[in-house]
Amino acid sequence: MTINVAVIGAGPSGFYTVDALLKGEKDVRVDIIERLPTPFGLIRGGVAPDHQTTKKVARVYEKTALTDGVGYFGNVEVGRDVTIAELQEIYDAIVLAVGAPTDRKLGIPGDDKIGVYGSADFVGWYNGHPDFTDLDPDLNTQTVVVIGNGNVAVDIARVLVKTPEEMTETDLADHAADTIDASPIKDVYMVGRRGPIEAKFTNVELREMGKLEDCQPVIDPAQLPDEVEGDWSDRDRRLKERNLATMKEFPDVDPSGMSKRCHFTFYAKPVEVLGGDKVEGVRMEHTRVEDGRSVGTGEFFEIPCGLLIPAIGYFSAPFPGVPFDVDNGVVVHDDGRVGDGVYAVGWIKRGPTGVIGTNKPDGDTAATQIFEDIEDGTKPGREALETLLEERSVRTLSYADWQAIDAAEVAAAKPGAPRRKFVNVDEMIAVLD
Ligand SMILES: Cc1cc2nc3c(=O)[nH]c(=O)nc-3n(C[C@H](O)[C@H](O)[C@H](O)COP(=O)(O)OP(=O)(O)OC[C@H]3O[C@@H](n4cnc5c(N)ncnc54)[C@H](O)[C@@H]3O)c2cc1C
Repeated sequence: MTINVAVIGAGPSGFYTVDALLKGEKDVRVDIIERLPTPFGLIRGGVAPDHQTTKKVARVYEKTALTDGVGYFGNVEVGRDVTIAELQEIYDAIVLAVGAPTDRKLGIPGDDKIGVYGSADFVGWYNGHPDFTDLDPDLNTQTVVVIGNGNVAVDIARVLVKTPEEMTETDLADHAADTIDASPIKDVYMVGRRGPIEAKFTNVELREMGKLEDCQPVIDPAQLPDEVEGDWSDRDRRLKERNLATMKEFPDVDPSGMSKRCHFTFYAKPVEVLGGDKVEGVRMEHTRVEDGRSVGTGEFFEIPCGLLIPAIGYFSAPFPGVPFDVDNGVVVHDDGRVGDGVYAVGWIKRGPTGVIGTNKPDGDTAATQIFEDIEDGTKPGREALETLLEERSVRTLSYADWQAIDAAEVAAAKPGAPRRKFVNVDEMIAVLD
C-alpha cells in the first residue's frame, strides 16, 4: 500500500525531503502543507532581495512540486487550520520542515525599546513577508547599529546602504524601498563580540561591501592580524585567509563621492540599549578573545543610533503538538525522529545554521527513516485532508494558484526587477478571485 506522507513547510528542507521520498524505493504519495500562499520559505522571505541568483534554487523546488504524486496545500497552517494529531490520523508519516521563524533575543536592558528590531522581523519586512509588512520601522535616523558578524548582519547592512539604482534588479518590497530611499542613514555599525578572524561572513558577501557605489567600508587596520592564527581546519583557515585579505583591501577603497559608511566594529558587545521609550544609542563593552570566547574588558563606549538590529541568530518557535527543546530552540528528536510517525528536518531539527544545501542531507535522512520505520501505508492521505479542510472552509491554494500569483508578481515588475511582491495574504488571494 502507498505510504502517505505530509511535509509541513515548503522551504528548502521540505522540498529536499519530498525529493528524497520520491527517489526512494517505496510507493509514496507526498503532500506539502504551507502556511503562506507563497512557497519557498526563507528563499523568498530571508535571502537578500539583491541576491537573485541564490533565489533561483526555487526552480529546482518547482520541478519537485510539479512531479506526479506530489500534492500542495498552500495557505494552510498546521496548528491553526489542522492539528498534528489530526494529520497523524490522515498520514502514515509527517515531516516537520517549519524552520525557525523568530529571533534570538539580545537579553540586555532596554532591548524592548521602540527602534530595536530583530533580524527575522527586519529581513521579513524588507522581503515582503506578510507577517512583517506592518512592522513600519522608523528609519529616520543617520545611524544604525547591527549586532552580529554573520551573513544576515551583512545582508541587512548592505540593503540599508545600497543606492536605489543598485537595488533596481531586486525584489525589495515597495514599502521597504520607499522607506530606505527616504531615510537619512549615513552610518551603519556592524558589531561583533569577537575579531575579524572569528567573523562568520562568507567571502562573497564580504567582498560586496568593498564594491558599493555610495558606501565606504571602514575598518581599523590595527585590528587586522598579519595572518590567520589559531586552530582551524584547513578549509576554515582558507576561508578566513580569504576574508582577511578582503578586509585588508577595505582601507584602499576610495571614499570620494561616497555619502555612507559601514563600520566593521570588532571586539565589542552590547550591554545596554540607551534612550527613553525609543532607542537613542547602545552602550558597548570592549572585549578580547580568550580560548575562542569573547570576554569583557570592563571598558565601555557608546554608539548613538536611532535603529538597532540584533542579527545574532534565528530561533524556532515551539510547534503545537510536538515536544520542544526550549534551550536549543529545536523540536525534541533523535536524529530527526520525533516519534509517533513524526520526523523533523532543516532548521526546526538542527537550529538556524548552514546554507540552503545544508538542509539536503536532512531530507535524505528523513526519507530513509520513513522507509525503515513504515513497511506499508495504512492511512487515507490526501482526500481525507481535502475533506477536513473543506468542512472547515479553509481557503486552500494549489500549486497552480501559487503559479498564478507568481505570474502576476512578475507581470507587475518594474523594468529590470524580477517581480513586484505582494506583501499581504489578501492581495495574493485577490489575484485568484
Ligand atoms: C536572512 C537570511 C538570509 C539567508 N541567505 C542565504 C543565502 O544567501 N544563501 C544560503 O545558502 N542560505 C541562506 N540562508 C539560509 C537558508 O535560508 C536556510 O538554510 C533555509 O531556508 C532553511 O530551510 P528550512 O526549510 O528549514 O526553513 P524555512 O526556509 O524557514 O522554511 C520553513 C517553511 O515552513 C513554513 N511553515 C512554518 N510554520 C508552518 C506551519 N505551522 N504550517 C505550515 N507551514 C509552516 C514557513 O512558512 C516556511 O515556508 C539565509 C537565511 C536567512 C535567515
